[in-house]
Amino acid sequence: MCGIIGVISKKPVLHPIVKSLMRLEYRGYDSFGFAGFLQDDFLVKKAVGAITQVFNIDDYKAFEECNIMIAHTRWATHGGVSEVNAHPHISFDSSNCIAHNGVVTNFQDLLRGAKEVWNIVSQTDTEIAANILAEGISKKRDIIHGLSWAFSKLEGEFAIVAMLKSNSNILIGLRRKSPLIVAKMGEDIILASDELAFVEFGKQAEITYLDDNEAVICKGHELKFYRFEDDSFIEIKKDFVSKKISAEGSDLGEYSHYMIKEITEEPQVIKNIAASIEENMHGITEDLHQSQINIAGSGSAFYVSQIGQYFFGQLSARYAFTHPSDEMLNLKQFKRNDHLIAVSQSGETFDTLEVVRTAKLAGAYITSINNVRDSTSQRLANFPIFQNSGKEVCVLSTKSILSQVCCLFLLALELGYRNGEVKTDAYDVLTSEYKRLPDALEFVLRGQNELIKRIAYQNCNIEHWFFIGRGIYYPVAMESALKFKEVSYLHAEGMPAGFFKHGTISLIDDNFYTVAFIPSRFNERRLYEATLDNLYEIKARGGNIIGIGHTPITCFENGFFLDYVEVPDLNKYLNSCLQLCVGQLLAYHCAVALDRNIDRPRALAKSVTVR
Ligand code: GLU
Repeated sequence: MCGIIGVISKKPVLHPIVKSLMRLEYRGYDSFGFAGFLQDDFLVKKAVGAITQVFNIDDYKAFEECNIMIAHTRWATHGGVSEVNAHPHISFDSSNCIAHNGVVTNFQDLLRGAKEVWNIVSQTDTEIAANILAEGISKKRDIIHGLSWAFSKLEGEFAIVAMLKSNSNILIGLRRKSPLIVAKMGEDIILASDELAFVEFGKQAEITYLDDNEAVICKGHELKFYRFEDDSFIEIKKDFVSKKISAEGSDLGEYSHYMIKEITEEPQVIKNIAASIEENMHGITEDLHQSQINIAGSGSAFYVSQIGQYFFGQLSARYAFTHPSDEMLNLKQFKRNDHLIAVSQSGETFDTLEVVRTAKLAGAYITSINNVRDSTSQRLANFPIFQNSGKEVCVLSTKSILSQVCCLFLLALELGYRNGEVKTDAYDVLTSEYKRLPDALEFVLRGQNELIKRIAYQNCNIEHWFFIGRGIYYPVAMESALKFKEVSYLHAEGMPAGFFKHGTISLIDDNFYTVAFIPSRFNERRLYEATLDNLYEIKARGGNIIGIGHTPITCFENGFFLDYVEVPDLNKYLNSCLQLCVGQLLAYHCAVALDRNIDRPRALAKSVTVR
């Protein structure tokens, strides 16, 4: 998390850098700050809050002439949310000023013995990094040797942009595992966490991506790149690609929130992913056919992965080892004949990238499903799948996860066809059902939105919720509970419906509501009946249930559900998408009813680039 930017230009940069930082706000929004030069000294200004909400340009007049600046929007990892902990941070000797994304894991060791000398003012690991840079640069004969020394001392993962007091014409970028992109755009050189930051500087950019353990020193317009090898930075050449820069699709239009705008785009993203996957489909299927299948993701992407696990199990009769990225490496030793499917909207999720890097090193093949082209995960993968869902601005993933679910469905279907589990007739039926999914989703969006809204407004005062389901509806319930709590701040626990009776049911009373994700009676009779058994157990204890299912309400006894949302019955795989959509709408309307910060819920960030 955290968005960082550094700009060096021939003209003043305050106005574009402010707007750029606003574009990076999705990466963290508890506080922000800017640094530039004023008469050969650092000028730093920071504030608590989200930049789009509390920024006032009148407070930043002193920066107006600056043609080199760095900026940061924070998602705190070390040290509370306060002005003093906000970035940029200046070293003890005022020799450098840095903005940092990531975590310096050995900051306490580095601090030991130096506390007094460094006169630490914040609780951040970042201030320690600034001081280590200062020590390096003062100890060594030139900047690059100083950076080498500092880089060898810092452990953890980080992207850093830095300015030096001794030279107000130099901007430095360092990367170890956190993203940092370099752009040349006319008179401007920009270093930033995300290409979105470049939008304010023009429509065309020459871009290069710093890889792990690389550095860039921008001296005016002259750029030098380095790679850290054997304890020092060695100069390297990097290729630039010419890229069109646009913020297309990030306008709110007629909608009141990005979340609802993006949910509404789901029918389209389903078409887009089917087209995107084509190019790689054959290669991936052939490799999956011969390899052990592993799927990893974090947060929502993990629940997507679990839905995919059901697809692979049911469509291609293959067990896919599926774990949350942060735990996968504790459970799994990757080998040459493994195939890892890594799922991450941003392609920069730290925990998922750790799995990708480890698997790759072991010789495994990587398929990476991401909605950001050229993200780190896309660049590391053998088979990058770009979701092409359009920019997702809301911090909560909605359309991008629907697209990922569909991507896994299409992969599992193709593999099933390849290995003979899915015969030609069934393949054709499933393919045509997939084509009907956008219309079925339209039906949910248009036909059931008002009902879901009414349910949300009527029940948003309920503080405790269970979200339960069996089979594929278990991860659907987990994901829907996650979405619900993320944005409504209400307590929601997702759980397999069959597991519920083994203890958790003790919490049921008439104040603890349950959202039940019910399979199709027609397509999945056994699972449907088993789910209903579990719902009877809840009813018997006085619980209130809101049902989401494919069976007409008339099939249930009167009053069984407090409320019920019926969605089309497509097939036992794709029904998960329709139910996910209902879960998203329920979370959205509840959060609106409670007046929550929909697109930027508290304490969250869109791209989780720390461990
Ligand atoms: N560790 C730094 C801090 O807490 C940066 C956090 C981040 O990149 O998320 O300020």
